Amino acid sequence: MNALFDFLESNADAAIKTLDELVRIQTHVPPGENYGKVMELAARKLRELDFEVEIIRMPRELFEKKNPRLSHLAAERVNLSAKLNVGAPKTLLINTHLDVVPASANWSVPPFEVTLRDGRIFGRGVADSKGGVSALLTVLSAMKELGVKPAYNLNIALTTDEEMGPYSGLCHLADIGKLEADYFLSMDGDSDDITIASNGNVDWQIDVFGKSYHSGSSFLGVNAIEKSVPIMSELLELKAKVELRRSKVPASTAISRKTGIDTLMPVLNITIINAGVKQNIVPDKCTMKGDRRYIPEEKFGDVCKEMNAALSRVREKHPDIDFKLSCDDIYAPLLTDMNHPWIKEVKRVAGEVAGRDVRLAGAQGSLDVAYAVKVTGLPACCFGIGRRTESNAHADDENIWVEDLVMYMKFLAKLLIDKAA
Ligand SMILES: [Zn+2]
Repeated sequence: MNALFDFLESNADAAIKTLDELVRIQTHVPPGENYGKVMELAARKLRELDFEVEIIRMPRELFEKKNPRLSHLAAERVNLSAKLNVGAPKTLLINTHLDVVPASANWSVPPFEVTLRDGRIFGRGVADSKGGVSALLTVLSAMKELGVKPAYNLNIALTTDEEMGPYSGLCHLADIGKLEADYFLSMDGDSDDITIASNGNVDWQIDVFGKSYHSGSSFLGVNAIEKSVPIMSELLELKAKVELRRSKVPASTAISRKTGIDTLMPVLNITIINAGVKQNIVPDKCTMKGDRRYIPEEKFGDVCKEMNAALSRVREKHPDIDFKLSCDDIYAPLLTDMNHPWIKEVKRVAGEVAGRDVRLAGAQGSLDVAYAVKVTGLPACCFGIGRRTESNAHADDENIWVEDLVMYMKFLAKLLIDKAA
C-alpha cells in the first residue's frame, strides 16, 4: 500500500491533467451538449485499463417521457458502463456524474479549464463531480502500472443529467440492469461526511381558477390570485407542522454546525407563483408550485394524503375556490443501514486516509442514487472529493484542494485493495 500511496502522491499532476481534460469538455446542463465527447474520453482511458466499455444512449422517447419538462434539450443523453472482472467473489459499483451546472460570468478564472492557485484547483465540476472521476482513473492506472489487483470486480457507471433529473442516466442504467454489484460507492457529494441517507422529493402544483374581466369592474370576474391566498395560508400552516418532524438519521456536519439541527428534517416550500398578464386584467389562473422534501421515515403516499387533507380544509372553509392539486414523485428517500459491513468499511477507510472520524450522515437534498438503490437494493453510500462549505459546488469559482485530490486517490486505492468483511 505504501508504494502505491507514494506513487499517487508523486502523480497528483497526472490526476490534475486528466481533470483538466474533463473540465475542458463543456458538459453543463442545460443544455448538456457534449456528453458524447466526455464519455468517449473516459471510454478510451478505461479501455486502456482493460475495462469492457459500453456507451449507452438513453432513447429519445424514454428521455422525453420520463422528463416531460426537458424535451427542449435536443442533444443525445450519453452514459457509460465499464466492467473489469478480476475473478473476485464480490463486485463493487462505482458511480458519479459527468454533467455539471452552468458557469456564470462572475468567475475569477476561466471556468472550463483547470487553474491552480494557492494549493487549490479551480474549474467547473472539479468538486461536483469530475474530480472523483479523474482520481479514479489515476488510481486505476497507478494500480495497473504497479501490478496491484483490486479486491473486487469493478462496475463503473459514469452518467449524465444528474444536475437536471428527475430521470438521469443513472436511473436509466438501473432500469436496464447495468448496475449489478454487491456494494455501491457514489463519488457524488462532499468529503465532510459519508452520506448514507437522503430526503425524498415530491414536486407539487396547484392550479387556482378564476374568471378574467376588466379590472375596472373586477367584482364581475374572479381573481385567481386573491383566491390563492387562503390556499397559501393553509400550506404555511401545514409547513409549520411538517417542519417540526425529525428523522432518526443524523444531519450533515455542515448543517448541524450552522443551525444546531442535528437530524434530517422534512420541509415544505412554495417556490413558484405564476399569474396575471396586465394590471388592468383580472387574472383567470394562478399556478403555485413547490416541493416537499420528505424524510426516510415518511412515505410518498402519506405526503400526498397530507397535502390533500390540507386542501380539503380550504374547500370546506371556501367552497367558492376552484382549484386542482397534483403531486409528482421525483426521488424516493435513501436510507442505508449504518451497520452494514460495506458502510463500516467505507467509514474505516475514509477515516484512515482523512485522519479524522468521518461521520455517517443524511442529506437534506435528494439524489438519483436513491432511485438506483430503490431498483437494485444495493448497500450504498456517497463520499466525494470537495468540501461542503469551501468548494463552491454550483457556485462561482468551484474548487478543490490539491491535498484533497491526493487524499481522495488514497481513499479509492485503499478501498479497492483492502477487502471488505
Ligand atoms: Zn453532483
